[in-house]
Amino acid sequence: MERRSNNLRERMLSLIQGAKFRLMNEKMCKLPIKNIKKNFENNPTDFIEYHDSYKSLQTNWPEKPIDKLIESLKTRSKFKIIADMGCGNAQLAQSLPNKVHSFDLVSHNVNVIACNMSKVPLSAEAIDIVVFCLSLMGTNISPFIIEANRILKIKGLLIISELCNRFFNLRKFLSTMQQLGFQIIKQDKSNDCFWTFEFKKIGNPKPYTTLKLKPFLYKKR
Ligand code: SAH
Repeated sequence: MERRSNNLRERMLSLIQGAKFRLMNEKMCKLPIKNIKKNFENNPTDFIEYHDSYKSLQTNWPEKPIDKLIESLKTRSKFKIIADMGCGNAQLAQSLPNKVHSFDLVSHNVNVIACNMSKVPLSAEAIDIVVFCLSLMGTNISPFIIEANRILKIKGLLIISELCNRFFNLRKFLSTMQQLGFQIIKQDKSNDCFWTFEFKKIGNPKPYTTLKLKPFLYKKR
């Protein structure tokens, strides 16, 4: 009896967390990024709640993109310098021996630099690996990819992990990435929820290139 009521309680909590997360995400996709930043700065508990519900939702996922990324990055040289764009709780920095620059809209951790990832405080060509893990919010993602291009060394690696339902047309996405200076070198579509892409920086972005993703849609499970 007690076990049944505990299960019910857990199920209810997970539904509430899911609803909260969807609501906040919808808000984050609709509002301009500077308003979201301001909102998080004025209401710091919102950011903490957002990440708590994100973390709790992830416990239901058979595989977490960030864990997969960490495993893959552990196989590379520890001397590679990494930029984690939209780092959340900076799990990458905590799990790798590499120097990791962690960026997010607000910082609750001394190691996280608060900024918009379309303009990070790093000089050009300073980074070996740039990571966006479920952080490409909004629909026009060109400013983030252009910034990744700026901070990456030539032949540097860009890794994107995103929900698969955000891609309109994969072939178009990859050709626009090429116009933004990135050649696809690896794609992993084995997970039916999120896809991971690896690109090599091959040059500068062509002007006036726009890259769009569908709005973030977190499906009820
Ligand atoms: N990469 C982390 C967190 C993903 S949650 C992980 O996989 O665990 C998405 C994060 O991206 C949020 O913390 C959000 O604040 C951040 N984010 C979204 N748009 C951003 C922007 N323009 N600049 C900086 N951070 C951004």
